[in-house]
Amino acid sequence: MITRLYRAEEEGSLEACAKLLRDGALCAFPTETVYGLGANALLPHSVRRIFEAKGRPSDNPLIVHLADSSQIPALCAEFSQKAELLCQTFMPGPFTLILPQKDRFDAVVTAGLPTVAFRVPSDPVAHKLLSLAGVPVAAPSANASGRPSPTAVQHVLEDLDGKVEAILDGGPCSIGVESTVLSLAGPVPKLLRPGDITVSQIEDVIGPIEISPALLRSLQEHEKAEAPGMKYRHYAPKCPLTLLDGSPEKALEWLMANQISKDSYLLCQQEDRDLFKAYSLILSGSHQDPLSQEQALFASLRKLDERQATVAYALLPPDEDRFRAVRNRLLKAGGFQVIHL
Ligand code: AMP
Ligand code: MG
Repeated sequence: MITRLYRAEEEGSLEACAKLLRDGALCAFPTETVYGLGANALLPHSVRRIFEAKGRPSDNPLIVHLADSSQIPALCAEFSQKAELLCQTFMPGPFTLILPQKDRFDAVVTAGLPTVAFRVPSDPVAHKLLSLAGVPVAAPSANASGRPSPTAVQHVLEDLDGKVEAILDGGPCSIGVESTVLSLAGPVPKLLRPGDITVSQIEDVIGPIEISPALLRSLQEHEKAEAPGMKYRHYAPKCPLTLLDGSPEKALEWLMANQISKDSYLLCQQEDRDLFKAYSLILSGSHQDPLSQEQALFASLRKLDERQATVAYALLPPDEDRFRAVRNRLLKAGGFQVIHL
């Protein structure tokens, strides 16, 4: 298949991509979080092709993307006051809400679950595309399954060129990690995936929420994944990645004490350039700026593969709410292999 690359600033490109989506083709598009791979959520045959293009396991459900949150109440079985408050506060934005479903979407979208995930992107290109398409668009991240999510069109081309009809280039993503996923399907609101919208921001709106234990450690064999995506290896570079949990100074001490080869790659923050200058560095944002780390994270993980790293280490950000998304993605990328310093 020949993949056609459209540029968002070119006249008629959004209209063309919207028509492709409506008519059942696959089109990757930019959002404020990461690039998504979209299909018309009302056409099961098209949605099925997303799983083929990505190599995604079929039991991992997709998020339904809408142009406007006012469409959600009609598409779910139960729309509580909490749901309304969350939609008002965080939509459009990097936030996904899981609600009880109302037989509107085929099992290929929801993986047969009784629930469905909704998101309304704030990125202007995504918003315009969804408005023009006029249909709900099912979209996971536009990467090959298991690889780091795409935050620039180049990443989408690396993974999906020749596998989808179209890719819409809208420049780099402004946030860089996937949306915060909150489920309202159970008795207590539960965080299933941390993102740029933090737990404290959500709790300010609806009071205390639960945090899924799967976010802090790998799932045990007998455990059921609350978001099926939790159980898959994700974001992983090809080489082993070990995570260092502590200050940069302690990390350096550990690297030296353990005679870690100077050929090893180290993902750290830009302020640490001098401290770790003996190693091969990939600088990934700044210490006091969670957004800068979110923006840089997936491109940094892809760089390990580009440079054919054979061993890599990454500094984990502190265990604080504002760094929860970056910490979670790094924990997954490293298979929860942590050295506590
Ligand atoms: P991605 O599309 O790559 O951003 O991944 C979407 C995430 O949302 C995955 O971890 C899914 O397992 C999760 N998800 C989507 N729909 C549901 C649902 N109905 N219930 C629980 N998790 C969901
Ligand atoms: Mg994904």
